[in-house]
Amino acid sequence: SATPLAGRVAVVTGASSGIGEATAEHLASLGAKVAVLARREDRLADLVSRIEKNGGTALAIAVDVTDAQSVRAAADRVKNDLGGADLVFNNAGVMLPAPIEELATDQWQRQIDLNVTGLMNVIGAFVPQLVQAAAERGVGDLINNSSIAAQNIYPNFAVYAGTKAYVTHLSRHLRTELGPKKVRVSAIEPGIVGTELQSHVTDAGAREWLAGSKETMEWLTSEDIAHTVGFLASQPARVNLQQVTIMPTGQP
Ligand code: NDP
Repeated sequence: SATPLAGRVAVVTGASSGIGEATAEHLASLGAKVAVLARREDRLADLVSRIEKNGGTALAIAVDVTDAQSVRAAADRVKNDLGGADLVFNNAGVMLPAPIEELATDQWQRQIDLNVTGLMNVIGAFVPQLVQAAAERGVGDLINNSSIAAQNIYPNFAVYAGTKAYVTHLSRHLRTELGPKKVRVSAIEPGIVGTELQSHVTDAGAREWLAGSKETMEWLTSEDIAHTVGFLASQPARVNLQQVTIMPTGQP
């Protein structure tokens, strides 16, 4: 059907730009009600009005996912206003590559705080809703956004890659706990996607490497990842794509 996600309630973190924004719009177009989480309220408000203009339903919740208490409050709102989440796209993340000898310890910490602790705060707050929804409606989805950096080896990406290896490995373990409760757990591992992610990089060498890569290949778009998430969530309840690597064709 054109709306395979009708009746479902999705939560998308990092929905104010890039992959999260595109995924929220796409899931809404597939019929899901969508709660959109990030810190920039103005961007979330724009997204919600776009979704509503296209006939969808969306709820903006301004939240810093590194703050466990705020995430729990957001989960309560999703439960009260939309009836509980059955699809969580755990997507908020930051990438700050730099040579380890630069000792950019604040950037190490920002990546660990968001990509690991923030991801866990969302899991902690929403897994009860996913399990309940799956018991009542037969399916739930926890889709964690990892990265090809979880698999491949790149100089200057050690800390980021470490956080993403955590995401992929955690996802595989959680699958074995939640699958029997009808909650599918997936890790998506994209190669380079053109978003705001690259704009936060401060290291000159890494910026140069990224600029060069843009010249030599066509990067993925946020919509490419959005369609992947929609595909996963639209499968029959018995089908769980555990790990999906999606690369720009030209990225080695
Ligand atoms: P963007 O920078 O465009 O999006 C990041 C999102 O995370 C924004 O919506 C941002 O919103 C949100 N965010 C940042 N900090 C917080 C916070 N503390 N609390 C809540 N939300 C926060 O980048 P992408 O769309 O590319 O990144 C999304 C995910 O995709 C990340 O996990 C990234 O690692 C992953 N990924 C990206 C790839 C790429 O090449 N782009 C490749 C592989 C994986 P706000 O600032 O408003 O809070």
